[in-house]
Amino acid sequence: MSTTEIDYYELLEVERTADDKTLKSSYRRLAMRYHPDKNPGCQDSENRFKQINEAYDCLKDPQKRAAYDRFGHAAFQQGMGGGGQGGMGAEFGDIGDIFESIFGSAFGGGGRQQARRGADLRYDMEVSLDEAFHGKDTEITIEVSQTCEPCSGSGSEPGTGRSRCGTCNGHGKVRAQQGFFVVERACPTCHGRGEVIERPCRACGGEGRVDRPQTLEVTIPPGVDSGTRIRLSGKGEAGPHGAPSGDLYIFLHVRRHKVFERDGTTLLTRVPITFTTAALGGSIEIPGIDGQAIQLDIPAGIQSGKQLRKRGTGMPVLQGRGRGDMVIEIQVETPTRLTARQKELLRELQGTETGDECPQSKGFFDRIKDVWNDLTE
Ligand SMILES: [Zn+2]
Ligand SMILES: [Zn+2]
Repeated sequence: MSTTEIDYYELLEVERTADDKTLKSSYRRLAMRYHPDKNPGCQDSENRFKQINEAYDCLKDPQKRAAYDRFGHAAFQQGMGGGGQGGMGAEFGDIGDIFESIFGSAFGGGGRQQARRGADLRYDMEVSLDEAFHGKDTEITIEVSQTCEPCSGSGSEPGTGRSRCGTCNGHGKVRAQQGFFVVERACPTCHGRGEVIERPCRACGGEGRVDRPQTLEVTIPPGVDSGTRIRLSGKGEAGPHGAPSGDLYIFLHVRRHKVFERDGTTLLTRVPITFTTAALGGSIEIPGIDGQAIQLDIPAGIQSGKQLRKRGTGMPVLQGRGRGDMVIEIQVETPTRLTARQKELLRELQGTETGDECPQSKGFFDRIKDVWNDLTE
Protein backbone atom coordinates (compact mmCIF):
# COMPACT_ATOMS: atom_id res chain seq x y z
CA MET A 1 0.00 0.00 0.00
CA SER A 2 2.31 2.69 -1.17
CA THR A 3 1.95 5.56 -3.57
CA THR A 4 4.64 7.01 -5.76
CA GLU A 5 5.01 10.70 -6.32
CA ILE A 6 7.59 12.95 -7.83
CA ASP A 7 8.65 15.78 -5.58
CA TYR A 8 7.19 19.10 -6.79
CA TYR A 9 10.49 20.91 -6.37
CA GLU A 10 12.34 18.26 -8.33
CA LEU A 11 9.70 18.46 -11.04
CA LEU A 12 10.19 22.18 -11.37
CA GLU A 13 13.97 21.80 -11.11
CA VAL A 14 14.29 24.35 -8.32
CA GLU A 15 15.71 24.37 -4.81
CA ARG A 16 13.26 24.09 -1.93
CA THR A 17 14.17 27.65 -1.02
CA ALA A 18 13.44 29.05 -4.51
CA ASP A 19 11.57 32.37 -4.54
CA ASP A 20 8.45 33.07 -6.61
CA LYS A 21 10.40 34.55 -9.49
CA THR A 22 12.72 31.57 -9.85
CA LEU A 23 9.76 29.25 -9.57
CA LYS A 24 7.88 31.06 -12.29
CA SER A 25 10.74 31.23 -14.76
CA SER A 26 11.67 27.59 -14.26
CA TYR A 27 8.01 26.64 -14.71
CA ARG A 28 7.78 28.60 -17.96
CA ARG A 29 10.95 27.07 -19.33
CA LEU A 30 9.81 23.50 -18.55
CA ALA A 31 6.23 24.05 -19.67
CA MET A 32 7.63 25.24 -22.98
CA ARG A 33 9.86 22.20 -23.29
CA TYR A 34 7.16 19.64 -22.50
CA HIS A 35 4.22 21.38 -24.14
CA PRO A 36 2.16 18.82 -26.09
CA ASP A 37 2.24 21.07 -29.17
CA LYS A 38 6.01 20.79 -29.21
CA ASN A 39 6.02 17.03 -28.67
CA PRO A 40 3.07 15.74 -30.67
CA GLY A 41 2.08 12.20 -29.80
CA CYS A 42 4.65 11.86 -27.01
CA GLN A 43 2.75 10.45 -24.01
CA ASP A 44 5.75 10.98 -21.80
CA SER A 45 5.96 14.71 -22.49
CA GLU A 46 2.23 15.06 -22.02
CA ASN A 47 2.41 13.38 -18.60
CA ARG A 48 5.35 15.52 -17.61
CA PHE A 49 3.52 18.63 -18.77
CA LYS A 50 0.56 17.76 -16.54
CA GLN A 51 2.84 17.07 -13.56
CA ILE A 52 4.66 20.37 -14.00
CA ASN A 53 1.38 22.25 -14.05
CA GLU A 54 0.15 20.45 -10.96
CA ALA A 55 3.40 21.24 -9.16
CA TYR A 56 3.34 24.90 -10.13
CA ASP A 57 -0.33 25.23 -9.21
CA CYS A 58 0.59 24.15 -5.72
CA LEU A 59 3.87 25.95 -5.17
CA LYS A 60 2.77 29.34 -6.53
CA ASP A 61 0.19 29.58 -3.75
CA PRO A 62 2.00 30.41 -0.48
CA GLN A 63 -0.55 28.63 1.69
CA LYS A 64 -0.54 25.47 -0.41
CA ARG A 65 3.22 25.58 -0.61
CA ALA A 66 3.53 25.76 3.18
CA ALA A 67 1.20 22.79 3.47
CA TYR A 68 3.19 20.88 0.87
CA ASP A 69 6.46 21.63 2.65
CA ARG A 70 5.05 20.16 5.83
CA PHE A 71 3.06 17.23 4.59
CA GLY A 72 4.10 16.58 1.03
CA HIS A 73 1.53 15.23 -1.39
CA ALA A 74 -0.57 13.97 1.49
CA ALA A 75 -1.76 17.53 1.98
CA PHE A 76 -3.68 17.45 -1.31
CA GLN A 77 -4.98 13.95 -1.55
CA GLN A 78 -8.32 14.37 0.11
CA GLY A 79 -10.10 14.54 -3.22
CA MET A 80 -8.39 11.58 -4.78
CA GLY A 81 -9.68 9.02 -2.36
CA GLY A 82 -6.83 6.64 -3.11
CA GLY A 83 -9.25 4.16 -4.69
CA GLY A 84 -8.80 0.56 -3.76
CA GLN A 85 -6.38 1.20 -0.95
CA GLY A 86 -6.89 -0.26 2.45
CA GLY A 87 -7.04 1.85 5.56
CA MET A 88 -9.16 4.54 3.97
CA GLY A 89 -10.71 5.53 7.26
CA ALA A 90 -7.32 6.14 8.75
CA GLU A 91 -6.31 8.22 5.74
CA PHE A 92 -9.33 10.44 5.99
CA GLY A 93 -8.66 10.80 9.68
CA ASP A 94 -5.17 11.97 8.86
CA ILE A 95 -6.42 14.50 6.37
CA GLY A 96 -8.74 15.91 8.99
CA ASP A 97 -5.79 16.35 11.28
CA ILE A 98 -3.74 17.95 8.59
CA PHE A 99 -6.34 20.55 7.76
CA GLU A 100 -6.99 21.13 11.39
CA SER A 101 -3.34 21.83 12.06
CA ILE A 102 -3.01 24.13 9.06
CA PHE A 103 -6.31 25.94 9.17
CA GLY A 104 -7.39 25.01 12.68
CA SER A 105 -7.28 28.52 14.04
CA ALA A 106 -9.46 29.75 11.18
CA PHE A 107 -12.30 27.52 12.30
CA GLY A 108 -12.55 29.39 15.54
CA GLY A 109 -10.93 26.78 17.75
CA GLY A 110 -13.63 24.67 19.34
CA GLY A 111 -11.45 24.06 22.35
CA ARG A 112 -11.36 20.33 21.67
CA GLN A 113 -8.00 18.99 22.72
CA GLN A 114 -7.15 16.43 20.11
CA ALA A 115 -4.09 14.26 20.22
CA ARG A 116 -1.53 15.15 17.59
CA ARG A 117 -0.78 12.78 14.77
CA GLY A 118 2.74 11.34 14.74
CA ALA A 119 5.46 12.96 12.67
CA ASP A 120 6.12 12.10 9.03
CA LEU A 121 9.50 10.52 8.47
CA ARG A 122 11.93 10.60 5.60
CA TYR A 123 14.09 7.71 4.49
CA ASP A 124 16.61 8.11 1.69
CA MET A 125 17.20 5.14 -0.56
CA GLU A 126 19.64 4.65 -3.39
CA VAL A 127 18.76 2.38 -6.28
CA SER A 128 20.68 1.43 -9.41
CA LEU A 129 19.38 2.36 -12.84
CA ASP A 130 18.78 -1.34 -13.35
CA GLU A 131 16.55 -1.47 -10.29
CA ALA A 132 14.79 1.69 -11.43
CA PHE A 133 14.12 -0.07 -14.72
CA HIS A 134 12.78 -3.34 -13.36
CA GLY A 135 11.38 -2.08 -10.07
CA LYS A 136 11.98 -4.21 -7.00
CA ASP A 137 10.57 -5.44 -3.75
CA THR A 138 12.84 -4.75 -0.86
CA GLU A 139 12.86 -4.45 2.91
CA ILE A 140 14.10 -1.65 5.06
CA THR A 141 14.64 -1.60 8.79
CA ILE A 142 14.23 1.68 10.58
CA GLU A 143 14.18 2.67 14.20
CA VAL A 144 10.83 4.33 14.64
CA SER A 145 8.62 5.15 17.56
CA GLN A 146 5.65 2.81 17.65
CA THR A 147 2.58 2.48 19.78
CA CYS A 148 3.56 0.80 23.04
CA GLU A 149 2.15 -2.72 23.13
CA PRO A 150 1.73 -3.38 26.87
CA CYS A 151 -0.42 -0.27 27.34
CA SER A 152 -1.80 -0.05 23.77
CA GLY A 153 -0.63 3.55 23.64
CA SER A 154 -2.61 4.69 26.67
CA GLY A 155 0.52 5.26 28.75
CA SER A 156 -1.07 3.65 31.80
CA GLU A 157 0.39 0.57 33.44
CA PRO A 158 -1.96 -2.30 32.43
CA GLY A 159 -4.78 -2.68 34.93
CA THR A 160 -4.64 0.92 36.05
CA GLY A 161 -6.53 3.84 34.61
CA ARG A 162 -6.58 7.57 34.54
CA SER A 163 -7.83 9.86 37.19
CA ARG A 164 -9.01 13.40 37.17
CA CYS A 165 -6.16 15.89 37.18
CA GLY A 166 -5.85 17.53 40.58
CA THR A 167 -4.21 20.68 39.30
CA CYS A 168 -7.06 21.74 37.00
CA ASN A 169 -9.81 19.64 38.50
CA GLY A 170 -10.41 17.98 35.16
CA HIS A 171 -10.97 21.20 33.21
CA GLY A 172 -7.73 20.96 31.30
CA LYS A 173 -7.19 24.66 31.84
CA VAL A 174 -5.87 26.71 34.69
CA ARG A 175 -6.39 30.39 35.47
CA ALA A 176 -3.61 32.60 36.66
CA GLN A 177 -3.50 36.21 37.70
CA GLN A 178 -1.20 38.26 35.48
CA GLY A 179 -1.20 41.90 36.48
CA PHE A 180 -4.81 43.05 36.12
CA PHE A 181 -5.82 40.14 33.96
CA VAL A 182 -6.81 36.61 34.59
CA VAL A 183 -5.38 34.44 31.86
CA GLU A 184 -6.42 30.93 31.07
CA ARG A 185 -3.90 28.46 29.77
CA ALA A 186 -3.52 24.71 29.28
CA CYS A 187 -2.92 22.87 32.52
CA PRO A 188 0.81 22.17 32.92
CA THR A 189 0.18 18.90 34.76
CA CYS A 190 -2.14 17.15 32.30
CA HIS A 191 -1.30 19.23 29.20
CA GLY A 192 -4.94 20.11 28.72
CA ARG A 193 -6.32 16.60 28.82
CA GLY A 194 -7.97 16.94 32.22
CA GLU A 195 -6.77 13.48 33.23
CA VAL A 196 -3.54 12.13 34.54
CA ILE A 197 -2.13 8.67 34.35
CA GLU A 198 -2.30 6.96 37.73
CA ARG A 199 0.68 4.74 37.17
CA PRO A 200 2.79 5.30 34.09
CA CYS A 201 3.38 2.23 31.95
CA ARG A 202 6.81 0.79 32.70
CA ALA A 203 7.54 -0.04 29.07
CA CYS A 204 7.08 3.49 27.72
CA GLY A 205 7.24 5.70 30.81
CA GLY A 206 3.72 6.98 30.13
CA GLU A 207 4.47 8.25 26.60
CA GLY A 208 2.36 5.56 24.97
CA ARG A 209 5.04 4.88 22.37
CA VAL A 210 8.49 3.33 22.25
CA ASP A 211 11.38 3.39 19.78
CA ARG A 212 11.76 0.05 18.11
CA PRO A 213 13.37 -1.20 14.94
CA GLN A 214 10.72 -1.97 12.38
CA THR A 215 11.14 -3.92 9.15
CA LEU A 216 8.99 -2.71 6.29
CA GLU A 217 8.38 -4.09 2.85
CA VAL A 218 8.80 -1.52 0.10
CA THR A 219 7.70 -1.97 -3.48
CA ILE A 220 9.60 0.19 -5.92
CA PRO A 221 7.64 0.38 -9.17
CA PRO A 222 9.44 0.34 -12.54
CA GLY A 223 10.33 3.77 -13.89
CA VAL A 224 11.20 5.61 -10.68
CA ASP A 225 13.67 8.47 -10.96
CA SER A 226 15.69 10.58 -8.56
CA GLY A 227 13.14 12.70 -6.74
CA THR A 228 10.40 10.06 -6.77
CA ARG A 229 8.88 9.58 -3.35
CA ILE A 230 7.12 6.52 -2.12
CA ARG A 231 4.67 7.08 0.68
CA LEU A 232 4.03 4.36 3.22
CA SER A 233 0.83 5.46 4.85
CA GLY A 234 0.84 5.25 8.64
CA LYS A 235 4.41 3.96 8.83
CA GLY A 236 5.87 7.15 10.29
CA GLU A 237 6.17 7.99 13.92
CA ALA A 238 3.39 6.84 16.21
CA GLY A 239 1.32 9.66 17.63
CA PRO A 240 1.63 10.30 21.37
CA HIS A 241 -0.89 8.61 23.65
CA GLY A 242 -2.30 6.37 20.95
CA ALA A 243 -2.84 9.10 18.31
CA PRO A 244 -2.55 8.06 14.64
CA SER A 245 0.88 7.56 13.13
CA GLY A 246 2.47 9.83 10.55
CA ASP A 247 3.60 8.64 7.14
CA LEU A 248 6.97 7.41 6.01
CA TYR A 249 8.33 8.91 2.82
CA ILE A 250 11.01 7.08 0.93
CA PHE A 251 13.03 9.49 -1.19
CA LEU A 252 14.66 7.71 -4.10
CA HIS A 253 18.02 8.51 -5.64
CA VAL A 254 19.07 6.71 -8.79
CA ARG A 255 22.81 6.03 -9.06
CA ARG A 256 24.71 6.94 -12.19
CA HIS A 257 25.10 4.15 -14.68
CA LYS A 258 28.36 3.23 -16.39
CA VAL A 259 26.87 3.24 -19.88
CA PHE A 260 23.56 5.06 -19.83
CA GLU A 261 22.66 8.59 -18.97
CA ARG A 262 19.05 9.26 -18.20
CA ASP A 263 16.71 12.13 -18.96
CA GLY A 264 13.18 11.23 -17.92
CA THR A 265 12.35 8.07 -19.84
CA THR A 266 15.07 8.68 -22.42
CA LEU A 267 18.36 6.83 -22.14
CA LEU A 268 21.42 8.32 -23.77
CA THR A 269 24.52 6.36 -24.63
CA ARG A 270 27.64 7.02 -26.69
CA VAL A 271 28.86 4.29 -28.98
CA PRO A 272 32.22 4.30 -30.74
CA ILE A 273 32.30 2.82 -34.25
CA THR A 274 35.25 2.22 -36.57
CA PHE A 275 35.81 4.71 -39.34
CA THR A 276 35.35 1.99 -41.94
CA THR A 277 31.88 1.18 -40.55
CA ALA A 278 31.15 4.91 -40.55
CA ALA A 279 32.14 5.18 -44.20
CA LEU A 280 30.60 1.95 -45.48
CA GLY A 281 27.65 1.64 -43.10
CA GLY A 282 26.77 -1.56 -41.32
CA SER A 283 25.01 -3.02 -38.36
CA ILE A 284 26.20 -3.10 -34.75
CA GLU A 285 24.84 -4.61 -31.58
CA ILE A 286 24.58 -2.67 -28.35
CA PRO A 287 23.33 -3.87 -24.95
CA GLY A 288 19.92 -2.61 -23.86
CA ILE A 289 19.05 -1.69 -20.27
CA ASP A 290 16.83 -4.78 -20.12
CA GLY A 291 19.75 -7.04 -21.08
CA GLN A 292 18.43 -7.59 -24.61
CA ALA A 293 20.83 -6.81 -27.44
CA ILE A 294 19.73 -3.95 -29.67
CA GLN A 295 20.48 -4.13 -33.37
CA LEU A 296 21.49 -0.74 -34.69
CA ASP A 297 21.77 0.06 -38.40
CA ILE A 298 24.52 2.51 -39.23
CA PRO A 299 23.85 4.39 -42.46
CA ALA A 300 26.87 4.78 -44.74
CA GLY A 301 28.62 8.12 -44.35
CA ILE A 302 27.52 8.79 -40.76
CA GLN A 303 29.39 11.53 -38.92
CA SER A 304 30.74 11.66 -35.39
CA GLY A 305 28.19 13.21 -33.02
CA LYS A 306 25.19 12.04 -35.03
CA GLN A 307 22.37 10.79 -32.79
CA LEU A 308 20.31 7.77 -33.69
CA ARG A 309 17.05 6.98 -31.94
CA LYS A 310 15.68 3.57 -31.02
CA ARG A 311 12.05 3.86 -30.06
CA GLY A 312 10.72 2.00 -27.04
CA THR A 313 14.08 0.89 -25.66
CA GLY A 314 14.41 3.53 -22.94
CA MET A 315 13.06 3.62 -19.37
CA PRO A 316 9.51 2.56 -18.54
CA VAL A 317 6.93 5.27 -17.87
CA LEU A 318 6.30 5.47 -14.12
CA GLN A 319 2.79 4.22 -13.36
CA GLY A 320 2.07 4.31 -17.05
CA ARG A 321 2.43 2.23 -20.14
CA GLY A 322 5.23 1.89 -22.62
CA ARG A 323 8.84 2.92 -22.62
CA GLY A 324 10.82 5.95 -23.68
CA ASP A 325 13.48 5.94 -26.37
CA MET A 326 17.16 5.30 -26.44
CA VAL A 327 19.32 7.92 -28.08
CA ILE A 328 22.64 6.63 -29.36
CA GLU A 329 25.33 9.16 -30.08
CA ILE A 330 27.82 7.91 -32.62
CA GLN A 331 31.52 8.51 -32.10
CA VAL A 332 33.65 7.72 -35.10
CA GLU A 333 37.00 6.48 -33.88
CA THR A 334 40.20 7.11 -35.80
CA PRO A 335 42.38 3.98 -35.63
CA THR A 336 45.62 4.36 -33.69
CA ARG A 337 47.20 0.92 -34.01
CA LEU A 338 47.40 0.04 -37.67
CA THR A 339 49.54 -2.76 -39.07
CA ALA A 340 51.96 -2.07 -41.92
CA ARG A 341 49.55 -3.74 -44.32
CA GLN A 342 46.62 -1.63 -43.17
CA LYS A 343 48.67 1.54 -43.55
CA GLU A 344 49.60 0.48 -47.04
CA LEU A 345 45.92 0.02 -47.92
CA LEU A 346 45.09 3.43 -46.49
CA ARG A 347 47.86 5.10 -48.48
CA GLU A 348 46.48 3.44 -51.55
CA LEU A 349 43.03 4.84 -50.67
CA GLN A 350 44.55 8.25 -50.08
CA GLY A 351 46.07 8.16 -53.55
CA THR A 352 42.63 7.79 -55.11
CA GLU A 353 41.04 10.67 -53.17
CA THR A 354 39.83 13.63 -55.22
CA GLY A 355 38.32 15.61 -52.33
CA ASP A 356 34.79 15.02 -53.55
CA GLU A 357 34.37 12.13 -51.08
CA CYS A 358 34.16 14.55 -48.17
CA PRO A 359 31.84 17.46 -49.08
CA GLN A 360 32.34 19.24 -45.78
CA SER A 361 36.15 19.27 -46.01
CA LYS A 362 35.92 20.32 -49.62
CA GLY A 363 33.55 23.18 -48.81
CA PHE A 364 35.74 24.28 -45.94
CA PHE A 365 38.94 24.37 -47.98
CA ASP A 366 37.15 26.14 -50.81
CA ARG A 367 36.13 28.87 -48.37
CA ILE A 368 39.66 29.08 -46.99
CA LYS A 369 40.94 29.48 -50.51
CA ASP A 370 38.52 32.39 -51.07
CA VAL A 371 39.71 34.08 -47.89
CA TRP A 372 43.29 33.59 -48.94
CA ASN A 373 42.64 35.03 -52.39
CA ASP A 374 40.86 38.05 -50.90
CA LEU A 375 43.85 38.70 -48.66
CA THR A 376 46.47 38.40 -51.38
CA GLU A 377 44.63 40.32 -54.09
ZN1 LIG B 1 -4.74 19.25 34.60
ZN1 LIG C 1 3.28 1.77 27.48
